[in-house]
Amino acid sequence: MFRPKLLVIAASLAVAGLANAALPASNPFAAESTLPLNYPAFDKIKNEDYGPAYEEGMKQQAAEIAKIANNKAAPTFDNTIVAMERSGRLLDRVSSVFGNLSGANTNDAFEALNRDLAPKLSAHSDAIRLNEKLYARIKTLYDKRDKLKLDPESKRLLERYHTDFVRAGAKLTAADKEKLKAYNSQLAALSTTFSQNVLKEANASALVVDTREELAGMSDKAIDAAAAAAKAKGMDGKFLIAIANTTGQAPLEVLTNRTTRERLLASSLARGSHGGDFDNREVVLKIAKLRAERAALLGYSSHAAYQLEDQTAHDTDAVNKLLGELSKPAVNNARKESADIQAVIDAEKGGFANAAQDWAFYTDKVRQARYAFDQNQLKPYFELDNVLKNGVFYAATKVYGITFKERKDLPVYQPDVRVFDVFDADGKQLAIFLGDFYARSNKRGGAWMNAYVSQSKLLGTKPVVANHLNIPKPAAGEPTLLTYDEARTLFHEFGHALHGMFSDVKYPRFAGTRVPRDFVEFPSQVNEMWMTWPEILNNYAKHYQTGAPMPKELLDKVQASAKFNEGFRTTEYLAASILDQRWHQLPADKIPTDVLGFESSVLKDAGVDFAPVPPRYRTTYFSHVFAGGYSAGYYGYLWSEKLDADTVEWFTENGGMQRKNGDHFRKALLSKGGTMDAMQMYREFRGRDAKIDPLLERRGLKAN
Ligand SMILES: [Zn+2]
Repeated sequence: MFRPKLLVIAASLAVAGLANAALPASNPFAAESTLPLNYPAFDKIKNEDYGPAYEEGMKQQAAEIAKIANNKAAPTFDNTIVAMERSGRLLDRVSSVFGNLSGANTNDAFEALNRDLAPKLSAHSDAIRLNEKLYARIKTLYDKRDKLKLDPESKRLLERYHTDFVRAGAKLTAADKEKLKAYNSQLAALSTTFSQNVLKEANASALVVDTREELAGMSDKAIDAAAAAAKAKGMDGKFLIAIANTTGQAPLEVLTNRTTRERLLASSLARGSHGGDFDNREVVLKIAKLRAERAALLGYSSHAAYQLEDQTAHDTDAVNKLLGELSKPAVNNARKESADIQAVIDAEKGGFANAAQDWAFYTDKVRQARYAFDQNQLKPYFELDNVLKNGVFYAATKVYGITFKERKDLPVYQPDVRVFDVFDADGKQLAIFLGDFYARSNKRGGAWMNAYVSQSKLLGTKPVVANHLNIPKPAAGEPTLLTYDEARTLFHEFGHALHGMFSDVKYPRFAGTRVPRDFVEFPSQVNEMWMTWPEILNNYAKHYQTGAPMPKELLDKVQASAKFNEGFRTTEYLAASILDQRWHQLPADKIPTDVLGFESSVLKDAGVDFAPVPPRYRTTYFSHVFAGGYSAGYYGYLWSEKLDADTVEWFTENGGMQRKNGDHFRKALLSKGGTMDAMQMYREFRGRDAKIDPLLERRGLKAN
């Protein structure tokens, strides 16, 4: 996943109390950080620095924007568009740190500030986008854009600003603008509530187990860690199993006790919808209704229609078609996989029907029977440092010529965070990369990338980017051994990091990952290909104790099983994507009152209501779409994967892992950020449009 930096454009906002207080120089956000590449001075930043920096940042930007809007001189590209791109530096500095740390390392002060800020920032952004004088200047320039002799990136920037303003409501009447502001402010607050509930609910839903026996199947180390986690919560003698973001939970793969599996999955599925303080049902209904009302105000039939217009997919028909076409073959695959699982259960005289809590456990047995290996055989070969340095980094060196050097002199916000200098092929510094790999109770689930500093030639900035994962931290002195999925996530997130680090654009609006949401997962997915590329795998997949390479037979089996369990994977993903679309394709007067009832009817209608495969996220903990930037956009992973699979084919056709291929991909795609139409960019890279066949082939959806 990629986490959009708060895209803040400021406005005139009355800031209570602080209106005259400029930021004291002692506030670390008052000036650009003097650390390399403006790396944030994490050691100097205190909780109480954020609020004043935000208030002053909004105020400064409001003043900058007022100056642009009220300029007596006729509008020019420089005095209007470029001036806006330069505005808001302070706000950008504070929001790039706060925005990320409130996901990666939150605390009560952060949460309180987030609740306070969300509506203010939304009002702030509205006041700019709805500033009539400013819009008039943009419109004047836009109408004569062909005569301005702008270079292609500048012309696109002008068009982009015009579109952004129109989509933000610049053409509305004054009364409707007021309505819009109210919607935006309420929605900002509700999204904050939603994500805070998800984190608190995940912590509150951790499974408490009384005896070691109930955890049979888990390693002794994992059970000890569960005991320590319980003790830390004052439940000495018991065991605590944390809940991860997705519906599926990693321990389900190994737990032999069916009741424990059932309890763990039930706890995961019930999140946000069983009453209590962190129930998200009412929040979801309010968000869905307000989004639909806002879309109607802006002239769209639904929130999805509004969102998709600005994506490469363009409209709901295109998305519904893709999801609809894939659903049946995916569920058919899942049913076949379930039959294989049932055969194992029956052979063991289990005496029960395969259910959702059994899938991961028994699918591993099917894997063992069919390919003669199980997930646990892989883990000793996937030690974190090996995968990172000799896999992820090594691949980037082979493909793009970039190199890495860890440094310990820069401050971090948490002792586990690691920092690397990244050098280009010519030896010059390209970027700084941060890796924050371990799970914590104050870190939201899942994995994501963000930029602390975005690249821009206009501002003279180079990228400082970070990857965040949620790998369970082993006991002190123990190695961090990754599952197959965790290793893949490491490659995936680094693909986003490359997109940020290779950015070579003039304007911040187009830096790195600022591309359509259904395109942004494409470069990250492409980077996953190197995980199992033989030359790379040989280089990193070494036994953590003996250093022995992964045996060739095991490696071959890993490759051969690549399509294994794809029916499950595709179905759970499609179910979540369909939920996202259905919630957001509703007009306001059709928003239901029963969240779970609506959810089941949607899944049934779409033919993806196959009980052993629940959606990857259920509505009430689906942060991507109710709190993150993926509303009506979760389908984008699959949309991007079409490009990804077609690109993997291109690499393979052209000799695979070679610098010339990496350089072409970097130059044509990874360096361009949002400076071009995404599909045009793809065409120039590939020489044609993407075909769907490589995706169908990969997902095992052909001839189904
Ligand atoms: Zn991603």
